[in-house]
Amino acid sequence: MTERATPFHCPYCGDEDLRPQEEPQSAWLCASCRRVFTVKFVGLNLPQGVAK
Ligand SMILES: [Zn+2]
Repeated sequence: MTERATPFHCPYCGDEDLRPQEEPQSAWLCASCRRVFTVKFVGLNLPQGVAK
């Protein structure tokens, strides 16, 4: 499992042309709107009775 979460769409403009950035670590550049952002995994929220 990699530390870098992989977004498939820019959360700001919805474009799919995302490129990994060296700095800051685990950041992504949206080639469309030029925003640089990171994706942080917080945890799982599983429905009760499903998690074991
Ligand atoms: Zn974008």
